[in-house]
Amino acid sequence: MVEKVIPIRIDEGKGLVPSIPEQLVAPHAHTQDARGRTLRDLRISVTDRCNFRCTYCMPKEVFDQSYPYLSHQELLSFEEITRLSSIFTSLGVEKIRLTGGEPLLRKNLEVLIGMLAQLHTPEGKPLDLTLTTNGSILRKKAAALKAAGLQRLTISLDGLNDEAFKKMNDVDFPVADVLDGILAAQEVGFENIKVNMVVKKGCNDHEIIAMAKHFKNTGIILRFIEFMDVGSSNGWNMAQVLPSKEVIAQINEVFPLEPIEANYSGEVAQRWRYLDGSGEIGVISSVTQTFCHECTRARISTDGQMYQCLFANQGYDFKTMMRSGRSDLEIANAIMNTWAARDDHYSEIRGSNTANPSTGSRKVEMSYIGG
Ligand code: SAM
Ligand code: SF4
Ligand code: SF4
Repeated sequence: MVEKVIPIRIDEGKGLVPSIPEQLVAPHAHTQDARGRTLRDLRISVTDRCNFRCTYCMPKEVFDQSYPYLSHQELLSFEEITRLSSIFTSLGVEKIRLTGGEPLLRKNLEVLIGMLAQLHTPEGKPLDLTLTTNGSILRKKAAALKAAGLQRLTISLDGLNDEAFKKMNDVDFPVADVLDGILAAQEVGFENIKVNMVVKKGCNDHEIIAMAKHFKNTGIILRFIEFMDVGSSNGWNMAQVLPSKEVIAQINEVFPLEPIEANYSGEVAQRWRYLDGSGEIGVISSVTQTFCHECTRARISTDGQMYQCLFANQGYDFKTMMRSGRSDLEIANAIMNTWAARDDHYSEIRGSNTANPSTGSRKVEMSYIGG
């Protein structure tokens, strides 16, 4: 265990500088944070760019031509991502999800996947390596991802009806092409595919039953996500959140459901199965039934800052640490220190409307921090 947590100093408005303990200890797996939560999974944003402009994530008005996306030199390289992932793995991380932005837009992503697929946990298990995508170029990429060693895939799709879907992605992207991407993933052998649908009340909630019907009997697990107040640009309001219990009630009326046990402790989705045996669905109730007490997740932003909560407004600058010649042991100790001091539990304390947070502080955008 780390003996003392040295306070963190702020580097003039950039990322926080992680502190390295004076006395280095060998990396220990399973470090706990200030609320007793163990670091187990890591999400890495590989690009802050996207070819969609989902209204709840990268609204057009904000993410326009003038938006200051990161330059190539600012991004972590594949070698840096792999090095950091390897250090996190030595500390007990068992699962890594690549995300963004749209991760498949990062050139040669399959090369990175090949590098990450070589990593193992301290117990010798291969990493659970997975990716979330909007599916738009999955038809082209599925075979290469599979061959590189990607184990699982989550694909986002917010409706089956083109009008509703286009309203959500805001770039006129058709449903058929995402469905074709999902088919391509199945054809190359991906199993246990998940589909994420963000439900925005008054926008796409009329698509819930059609989506449920479409994915029943396919082996694909459809998960409904409550619209969240992530970032500071999506104009979130509680009135646009459809509580998951209402999603379940709607589906249950047409296709009866029963709850099932979580696969593992800390699983964010609550699982339900159809009584007729035609599969299962999940709900992620980040707003109405919070799960901070079980949150074991850290995030690495596109430019190598470690965030300990989706709703944080500052990260810890591990890119500079790596680029200034720090050793793996120093970085591992700094990660342990940072995690040990973590007290985040935003969802448990959010107000009813965070579009204008009373603190006045801006939260980071999901495309940058990794959804
Ligand atoms: N571009 C990829 C995609 O859309 O799947 C990966 C990145 S995206 C930020 C990751 C996930 O976050 C997607 O399933 C997306 O629907 C979800 N998401 C984005 N903004 C959200 C919000 N405000 N509330 C709930 N989920 C959101
Ligand atoms: Fe792009 Fe995914 Fe955000 Fe939609 S949710 S804008 S696809 S990053
Ligand atoms: Fe984890 Fe932060 Fe979400 Fe709570 S609000 S579940 S601490 S990411």
